[in-house]
Amino acid sequence: MRVNIQLECTECKRRNYSTNKNKRNTTDRIELKKYCKWDNKVTVHKETKK
Ligand SMILES: [Zn+2]
Repeated sequence: MRVNIQLECTECKRRNYSTNKNKRNTTDRIELKKYCKWDNKVTVHKETKK
């Protein structure tokens, strides 16, 4: 049930991280605070579909 997803920075829209999630347990879109090297700070990264 695990699917690969990519995390997109909400500020620069770059896809900085890839990860995976359990589709059954996590039905909502993931939002994580992660460091963006393009913005040079921690920003919110949201899940994107491939
Ligand atoms: Zn960014």
